[in-house]
Amino acid sequence: MTRYVYDFVEGNKDLKVLLGGKGANLAEMTRMGLPVPPGFTVTTEACREYLRTGSMPTGLFDEVEDHLRMVQNQIGKVFGDAKDPLLLSVRSGAQFSMPGMMETILDIGLGDASVAGLARQTGDERFAWDSYRRLIQMFGKTVFDVPGDAFEEELTAARSTAGVATDAELGTAQLLDLVYAYKKVFNEHTGRDFPQASHEQLFLAIGAVFRSWNADRAALYRRQERIPQDLGTAVNVMAMVFGNRGEDSGTGVAFTRDPATGRRGVYGDYLRNAQGEDVVAGIRNTMSLSELATIDPASHRQLLSVMQRLEQRYRDLCDVEFTIENGKLWMLQTRVGKRTPAAAFVIAAQLVDEGTITLDEALHRVTGGQLAQLMFPSFDTDAAPPPLATGVGASPGAAVGAIVFDSAAAEAATEPVILVRRETNPDDLPGMIAAQGVLTSRGGKTSHAAVVARGMGKTCVCGAEELDIDGDEVTVAGRILHAGDVISIDGTSGKIYPGAVAVRPSSVVRWFEGELTAHGDPLLSAVERLMIHADHRARLAVHANADTGADAARARRFGATGVGLCRTEHMFLGDRRVLIERLILGDDGALADLLPLQRADFEELFAAMDGMPMTVRLIDPPLHEFLPPLDELTARVARAEALGQDPGRDGTLLTAVRRMHEQNPMLGLRGVRLGLVIPGLFAMQVRAIAEAAAARVAAGGDPRPEIMVPLVGAVQELETVRAEAEKVLASVPGAPPIRIGTMIEVPRAALTAGQIAGAAEFFSFGTNDLTQMTWGFSRDDVEGAFFGTYLGLGIFAVSPFETIDSDGVGELVRIAVERGRAARPGLTVGVCGEHGGDPASVRFFHDAGLDYVSCSPFRVPIARLEAGRAASAADGSDSR
Ligand code: PEP
Ligand code: MG
Repeated sequence: MTRYVYDFVEGNKDLKVLLGGKGANLAEMTRMGLPVPPGFTVTTEACREYLRTGSMPTGLFDEVEDHLRMVQNQIGKVFGDAKDPLLLSVRSGAQFSMPGMMETILDIGLGDASVAGLARQTGDERFAWDSYRRLIQMFGKTVFDVPGDAFEEELTAARSTAGVATDAELGTAQLLDLVYAYKKVFNEHTGRDFPQASHEQLFLAIGAVFRSWNADRAALYRRQERIPQDLGTAVNVMAMVFGNRGEDSGTGVAFTRDPATGRRGVYGDYLRNAQGEDVVAGIRNTMSLSELATIDPASHRQLLSVMQRLEQRYRDLCDVEFTIENGKLWMLQTRVGKRTPAAAFVIAAQLVDEGTITLDEALHRVTGGQLAQLMFPSFDTDAAPPPLATGVGASPGAAVGAIVFDSAAAEAATEPVILVRRETNPDDLPGMIAAQGVLTSRGGKTSHAAVVARGMGKTCVCGAEELDIDGDEVTVAGRILHAGDVISIDGTSGKIYPGAVAVRPSSVVRWFEGELTAHGDPLLSAVERLMIHADHRARLAVHANADTGADAARARRFGATGVGLCRTEHMFLGDRRVLIERLILGDDGALADLLPLQRADFEELFAAMDGMPMTVRLIDPPLHEFLPPLDELTARVARAEALGQDPGRDGTLLTAVRRMHEQNPMLGLRGVRLGLVIPGLFAMQVRAIAEAAAARVAAGGDPRPEIMVPLVGAVQELETVRAEAEKVLASVPGAPPIRIGTMIEVPRAALTAGQIAGAAEFFSFGTNDLTQMTWGFSRDDVEGAFFGTYLGLGIFAVSPFETIDSDGVGELVRIAVERGRAARPGLTVGVCGEHGGDPASVRFFHDAGLDYVSCSPFRVPIARLEAGRAASAADGSDSR
């Protein structure tokens, strides 16, 4: 028969799956001989069984009774006894911490008879009645869903009748009246009396904790935190100890190191004559642990020694909750403590120095997500007002500035500005560069605004649909904001604040940039050390997506060992756009004008990436981005015609734009299709690459260009481009060997990768398009439109444009790697979609056997760290 209950002495810290985190840690402390009140844990398995069948598993009652007897023996009191009752706490505790999500009930076992016994035994009548009224309130709410307000109303009435401001000032007689009032509330809402039988209370409480696993807020929390929904919670039943028994009692929380900075030492707060909830509620000012040392040196000493032992046992920062009852210390909880990203790095390095963990283990004490948080300037959120709205946090950072509604205004501004647009297009680039941050009301994480901002390391919030942007004003949360009004945008949380919120710059970025040295700075030294080890471990190389020499140079400073994607269409913006316009209008001379410009572009890039692979992707513009919008052009032509004027070039353009107008430009004439339709365009780019490389060689450089063809779906497309490119390459003397490969970003390319590998020397997954085309989601539209609903429904836990959808898109990646390498052993395979810089996706690409990931320069360090983590976990060297 399955066993459902374990005494604390029977478990240990490694049994989290069965006993939950809290139960496993209570067991560990008990085994270590630390002062834990006696108790037992009802397993997660019992919870799952209860949730499945709707009733308590067979045998559970008897098991609980057996273990309860052991607790009674240890404490020397009897549960339900009228004269000297044993009271119990019942607390939830799942495998993964879900703070505040599920239920706790204290003081179980009190009733009309035992309340008097408790008063006599403790010599404290007020304490006894206060405990009783707390029990009815917590029990009513948790077990019978009595609305909390119903109790609160009675409490408020009691305070006003007594003429006092706080609950703590209510006297014994008033608490006694309150107990009667609460019982009435209980009866009115449940149709029954408050249960007096202590055992009935206990089992009802256990059932309520089981059910709280399925509470809406708990389910939502799990979806957000990606915790499986079917784990269930354990229930910890423990003898109550009381911190509210007078001045020699109290309760506190403490950390073995500072969880904010990682500094060594014990940090904590203590509240005299109080229970756990009072500390959290912040009703009274707490004292520091050093003050505890003066009022109760013995307990303080014992606490420090307990904490030291816990840290040695867990080999990590621990936090604890403790209670002192009449001068006796009790440990109520411990766990490996949460910490800030800075503390995570500092503590990991300290533990290596102290010989507690290995460098491999240290890599697993930090994450790419934490490093990302350290790399962006951040808001001092304590100083922030309530947000106006929340959009998609698309490119992290904290930006403050005056609102401008167009690119020209951003460029012209002399003060910091935030560019606010419904959405951006390549024309907005100068404004995006000039602005501190970009805010859009449409589009998701791979919208133009998001991708470009991320590439620039610029703060961006997009898809903030609550913003109604109309000309030169924006309406949000009932307020109208105008150009010049200052706002603050948080590219991590997506929050938009009114006014200027204080910002802290990132020292980690300044260190990567070479502006600071790590020496003497605990955080920078820790980051340096772990980055070196990650690079040493990593099997995946990390390249960058960079379109300019400056971006490429930054990527190198951040540790990239190549450029995996240069989006050449970004080279045709601003003044050069007209050249593409001419090309589209059939003006062959445009190509001749473009050639020297492109050659100069590539020379600059090859110089910046000297000695490293530099993958140049042939042009892949959604064509509409290079042409004036149809409605604008139509209006201009109509105006000219109405005035009897010749619309001139506008007229020719309008004909071309009408001819080329596409309903779905992202699924239209893009990538290789464009290269095959517009004669000479790709050939011009290939020539520019070859000539720039030849010039670099002549200048003594070591250029390593590679040519990448976008949006290929059929090997014939690639073969056609390849044949033309090879001819051009052969005609340029002095050029180094240049490999030709393809992006895999159309599902058909993944499926026919075996054929495509015949014409490709390398693959690079364009997971932005691959995700768009696999799901049939428009990458520009859906994130703002309905991803919120999808996330809420748990259809996915995170946007598939952010973290690779390993089951669907990932399967195509695996298929393409396998078929590609089968056809061409040694085929180089990388990824250059936005997922290349996402921590969870880097792990996936490592597992899928890719050679490199390529991401925006600012995410290069994050990818390096994750590549190291993936490799050190994969080879089994991590002993945790
Ligand atoms: C991709 O589709 O993943 C990719 C890198 O190309 P782009 O984002 O430029 O379409
Ligand atoms: Mg693409």
